Amino acid sequence: MVKFLKILPIAIKTGTVTIKYPYQEPLITESFRGAIEIDPNKCVGCGACTRICPPKALTMTIESNTIILKYFVGRCIFCGMCADTCPEKAISITKEFELATGNIFDLYADVEHEVKTCPICGKTFITRKLSDKIISKVPDIPLETMDLCPDCRRKETLKKFIGVPE
Ligand code: SF4
Ligand code: SF4
Repeated sequence: MVKFLKILPIAIKTGTVTIKYPYQEPLITESFRGAIEIDPNKCVGCGACTRICPPKALTMTIESNTIILKYFVGRCIFCGMCADTCPEKAISITKEFELATGNIFDLYADVEHEVKTCPICGKTFITRKLSDKIISKVPDIPLETMDLCPDCRRKETLKKFIGVPE
């Protein structure tokens, strides 16, 4: 009762701070963070966003010759860390927050990337787009080694320079 009497004058002074959503428009400020959007043209499939995402709302999986970057908005906490981390600025934060749906598949968004396969061991290891990006940034890199997975590249380099047997 004492607590109530203390709060009452403060509440009267402050007035109403809540709104009758959805009957009234909510206040969406400039810095409001809603669901994210991934630009498939900019994304190179590096996976940095999946490593930084705290609740693992972004994941990467390999299916045959495709790497799939998957966004599940049902897990997203709208922290924006993925957008800050993406080196390609492929992620934008929208103001979208009304995300309820009767179909769970509406909560997923995929970006698909062609993947490179190591010609020696057959392992899939990098997206073609990311590999092309590295080649364009490091022009002196021997192109034949860029086709190999990190393990085979290391073995081949050792063989070449110090003659290590297979
Ligand atoms: S906004 Fe945060 S929680 Fe949502 S996908 Fe990006 S990093 Fe993950
Ligand atoms: S960090 Fe950016 S470029 Fe890398 S996978 Fe995520 S969205 Fe794509």
